[in-house]
Amino acid sequence: MPDAAVPEHPASESTASATAIAVEGLKVHFRTFAGRVRAVDGVDLNVKIGAFHGIVGESGCGKTTLARTIVGLQSPTAGQVRILGRDRAKWQSQDRMSFARTVQFIFQDPLGSMSRRQSVQQTMEEPLRIHGKGDARERRRKIKELLDLVALPVSVLDRLPRSLSGGQRQRVSIARALALNPEVLICDEPLSALDVSVRAQIVNLFARLQAQLNLTIIIVAHDLAIVREVCSAVTVMYLGRVAEEGAARPLFADPAHPYSQALLSAVPSPDPRIEEARSRVLLEGDPPSPLDPPAGCRFSTRCPVAVCECRSIEPTLRSVRHGGRAACHLADESRHPIL
Ligand code: SF4
Repeated sequence: MPDAAVPEHPASESTASATAIAVEGLKVHFRTFAGRVRAVDGVDLNVKIGAFHGIVGESGCGKTTLARTIVGLQSPTAGQVRILGRDRAKWQSQDRMSFARTVQFIFQDPLGSMSRRQSVQQTMEEPLRIHGKGDARERRRKIKELLDLVALPVSVLDRLPRSLSGGQRQRVSIARALALNPEVLICDEPLSALDVSVRAQIVNLFARLQAQLNLTIIIVAHDLAIVREVCSAVTVMYLGRVAEEGAARPLFADPAHPYSQALLSAVPSPDPRIEEARSRVLLEGDPPSPLDPPAGCRFSTRCPVAVCECRSIEPTLRSVRHGGRAACHLADESRHPIL
């Protein structure tokens, strides 16, 4: 069995480039009785190899649909996804096994993604068996290595998933995702089903694994405090579009988009001086329906600093002073800060 830290599949054609995931012009629309839901509506995303990339935004902003489309759990209406330089759709249709060895998805609800009748041992052994990895003894050894990696005792092996705590279940799902030595992990709200006290432990586990195994991780989250803690890059989504993106630390220190500013103003700071000076920006109302997004800037119906042009001209992503980009007419040097 190969060491868990060393991917056993050959480097793909483009690992020399620094891009792990490139999403271009992605649209995911759903037809419903009420009309066309534009869940993702023209998103470009670039995730560097070895990045820990957070995708954040309110519920319904399209972040989960984007993550699911990246791994092929959802079909795009338009646009393209490339992973490690390869067209994701072609890769999956031509060599599903190789794709599964390279890219793994972690679900929000670990219990829902496991068979309730299978023990942890069976759950973890399944991908190894399907991919023909080792004999029974080698697989047992590998499973123990994986348990070690996620800090679980071997005593969990005989247990059923429902008898584990939420944190233990998520550790099992992470261990299973790592069984085939993937290069890319896409995690859909992996912390939302967990108690607050356990979230920090799982976040720290992701951070350790990312560094130890040199993984590229995308994490979809609504908890900005967590993203601020561990992510190297962040994409803020609003109503199916990217509102702002950039390296996490500078963006969190100096957000350019009013929506990001409002989201971040709700995050308590561990620094008592910053916390004391923190002023909260309250957004009024809910996001508009993705069935009928507003004309111009999609945030214009809730933006506290909207001007006339915001209601007729849609802003494109432009460079801002934290080094990333924001889709806001006012997010340039001369008119910043907005709030
Ligand atoms: Fe607000 Fe206008 Fe910027 Fe949109 S473009 S975020 S409405 S200021």
